[in-house]
Amino acid sequence: MYGWQIPPPKKSSKSAEAFARERREKVAWLMKKGLLKSERIRRALLKVPREDFIPEAYRDYAYLEVPLPLPGVAATISCPHSYPLFYEPLGLDQGHRFLEVGLGSGYGAAVAREVVGDEGLVVSIEIDPLTFAYAKANLERAGYRDVVLIRADGGLGYPKLQPYDRIAMTAACTEIPPPLLEQLAVGGRLIAPVIGAIGQDLTVFEKSATGISQKLVCNVLYVNLRGQYGVLGEQES
Ligand code: SAH
Repeated sequence: MYGWQIPPPKKSSKSAEAFARERREKVAWLMKKGLLKSERIRRALLKVPREDFIPEAYRDYAYLEVPLPLPGVAATISCPHSYPLFYEPLGLDQGHRFLEVGLGSGYGAAVAREVVGDEGLVVSIEIDPLTFAYAKANLERAGYRDVVLIRADGGLGYPKLQPYDRIAMTAACTEIPPPLLEQLAVGGRLIAPVIGAIGQDLTVFEKSATGISQKLVCNVLYVNLRGQYGVLGEQES
């Protein structure tokens, strides 16, 4: 699946302490690799129990650098390093109004909630009804009741709560859906995997009063965006 080797499903046997230890080790590793720098993102990654956002059959692999399958069509929880990979160049911080396209497991939304804090806002949109229900249950169980969850096509954004200081698209697109750029605040940033000539380029866009600038982060491998602005051949009927 998407060029990754998914480990075989099995019954979870790790204790909460074992997961907590793996979480601390993962955060230390991300810092050592230079992928994790911000104190708020570090604290958020230490706090959110990633294992609680993964189906039981894959839970023991929570801290491995592989994306794991979720209920729904082509939905995955991205590998652990993807979250600082997105949130660091985005400069996600306290007080931000944050929009996520592709809720997946709900883990990215939970981490963002911890980063933006009480003064901030997290809105996340998921197109797949099964994935949506799964993420909603995960977030409720983990105590994240103030994340705004929308079951819809994220390519259209969520105009009701615009403008957003930061937007993360966690599905790959050929071009940034125009509604998302419209709903981005001036001075705001959007990050997305953009399908290029070879693979996908994780790109940060910054909106100023005069236009949009962009900067390449690195190559990535994400599931394709569905819906109105979806990748050709993957569109909904
Ligand atoms: N952020 C997620 C990972 C997302 S995987 C996490 O933390 O786990 C990509 C997700 O994008 C999948 O759940 C997929 O169903 C969703 N998706 C694809 N196209 C979408 C669209 N147009 N609108 C909203 N969600 C979409």
